[in-house]
Amino acid sequence: MGEFAGIVLHDSACPARTRAGFDFYVCKDGTVVTSQDFLDDDHVHVCVEGDFSEPIANMGLVREQMFVLVKLVLRLSSAFKFDPEKLMAHGDLCPGVEFPWHELKIRIDRPPH
Ligand SMILES: [Zn+2]
Repeated sequence: MGEFAGIVLHDSACPARTRAGFDFYVCKDGTVVTSQDFLDDDHVHVCVEGDFSEPIANMGLVREQMFVLVKLVLRLSSAFKFDPEKLMAHGDLCPGVEFPWHELKIRIDRPPH
């Protein structure tokens, strides 16, 4: 098992999806799908289901999904011993511009009990 520097976040509109897949996939219903192997030695790749290039239609649902995502981030950062704030976007357009980073920030600063 490698030493991970942090997490790279994607949404499911990411063009890389068809190429390489992801280590963890957080579905809209809060289910987390784990892949067999880690794809990258440096970062854990987590994909959030949804196209965040458009305004969020159901914020309640997305909040639940973000709650699951934060739990996953905290679990991974503790398992692989990196700072949970070492969470970065894949690129300028992935995840999309409407991605609710503020929801994550609040909860990573004050983890869910
Ligand atoms: Zn991506």
